Amino acid sequence: MDRQKIKEAGLKLTPQRLAILDYLRDNLEHPSAEDIYKAILERFPTMSFATVYNTLETLREKGAIQELTIDPQKKRFDPNPRPHHHLICNRCKKILDIHIDYQLHVPEEKKNGFEIVGNHIEFYGICPGCRLKMSGMQS
Ligand code: ZN
Ligand code: MN
Repeated sequence: MDRQKIKEAGLKLTPQRLAILDYLRDNLEHPSAEDIYKAILERFPTMSFATVYNTLETLREKGAIQELTIDPQKKRFDPNPRPHHHLICNRCKKILDIHIDYQLHVPEEKKNGFEIVGNHIEFYGICPGCRLKMSGMQS
């Protein structure tokens, strides 16, 4: 996701959109709209949550960012629009990237006539921080 692509998509680079793009650039945390809003509020105290949310929706529609629905509590946003997979912590909902090209085969009779164009694998587990907390609770 870069400024050139945003311009090509016909989006005006307003200061608000730039702030959101700057926050998302190289951000590997998969933040929610609320996280992004809180982070940007310091620089733009008058920006509303609706503006942040609408901007994220627009960026998603233009293919500049991805929306992840793997956290059932809230949508998370991924500034990397290219296909990749994710690790999710069942306790703290931390989401990490997995960049591995899995060669998965769907037999013709299971495709139900679909032409398959992609896949997204979610691996669930407990992150190191949560594992440490859990082992502390047991002792
Ligand atoms: Zn965790
Ligand atoms: Mn990701």
